[in-house]
Amino acid sequence: EVKNSGKNNFCIFDKAIEEKVERAARLERDLRGALDRNELYVVYQPKVHLATQKYCGAEALIRWEHPDLGFISPIEFIPLAEEAGLIDRIGDYVLLDSIEMLKVLNFKKDEPFSIAINMSPLQLERENCLDSINRPILHSGLSASRFEFELTESAMLKTNETHSFEILKTLRRQGYRINIDDFGTGYSSLSYLQMLPVDVVKIDQSFVRDLTEKAANKVIVESVIKIAATMDLTVVAEGVETKEICDYLTSLGCELAQGYFFSKPISSKELKELLSPPHGAG
Ligand code: C2E
Ligand code: MG
Ligand code: MG
Ligand code: MG
Repeated sequence: EVKNSGKNNFCIFDKAIEEKVERAARLERDLRGALDRNELYVVYQPKVHLATQKYCGAEALIRWEHPDLGFISPIEFIPLAEEAGLIDRIGDYVLLDSIEMLKVLNFKKDEPFSIAINMSPLQLERENCLDSINRPILHSGLSASRFEFELTESAMLKTNETHSFEILKTLRRQGYRINIDDFGTGYSSLSYLQMLPVDVVKIDQSFVRDLTEKAANKVIVESVIKIAATMDLTVVAEGVETKEICDYLTSLGCELAQGYFFSKPISSKELKELLSPPHGAG
């Protein structure tokens, strides 16, 4: 009925919001015990050096398998973890898993391989931030150069002139690399990169996905690669899904790439198999 449709639409809309709020509240509540119930785990997505096509690292990505609701995306539960004050514990968990992973992989000193860990800006604000990173890593005997910490461009921009900015600078001095994640989505200018305590620029997948079709994306990606080179920054293209895009990025001189074309995020066991020589060899 035309007359009532406005009101009905409103009700449907209202209900959708209510369901969303209820789901968020439930997830936040369930997340509190999720770590202790072993529902959270870490997967690793390999990163490839394009010129040599060799694996040079991996990104640690958190996963939550909810017993009733199934797989919950970190895009949905990380903000809830931040809100619930659980993000430090999750961060500690991902760091410990990454340390174990690196210990098992047991690289030789001259073999370049590092694990990139995503960081919420809130983790930089915790009182013992540096200690929470340095203590387990020092204890493991692993070199700081095996670790990269990723912050999204928008989170990075907010650290300017704050204590977090100093923390990032200290981490770099201590030998960790700092990555700016989802670059291109935070609306900072390319020249601003120079001011940031950053070693690696990860071009957001929205620019990479239709790189070979969209002229505008070509221009953006090409500029980032060129300017990053002059600033001595490493570039990673995120979300590489096809050979065509991989080849195009290689021709542009993009150093590193990550995406389903090379590998989806995989378990630590699968990563170990991927990196070890074929069965029976060596
Ligand atoms: P991100 O750090 O930008 O991670 C890249 C995301 O893109 C991952 O999604 C990855 O699975 C996905 N991806 C990789 N290659 C491809 C591809 O070729 N095509 C497509 N379509 N997607 C690809 P995921 O694992 O769902 O993570 C989403 C976001 O959640 C991450 O974005 C990161 O911001 C956040 N996140 C994940 N793990 C953690 C964590 O341990 N701590 C924190 N603070 N945030 C995390
Ligand atoms: Mg990331
Ligand atoms: Mg990203
Ligand atoms: Mg992202």
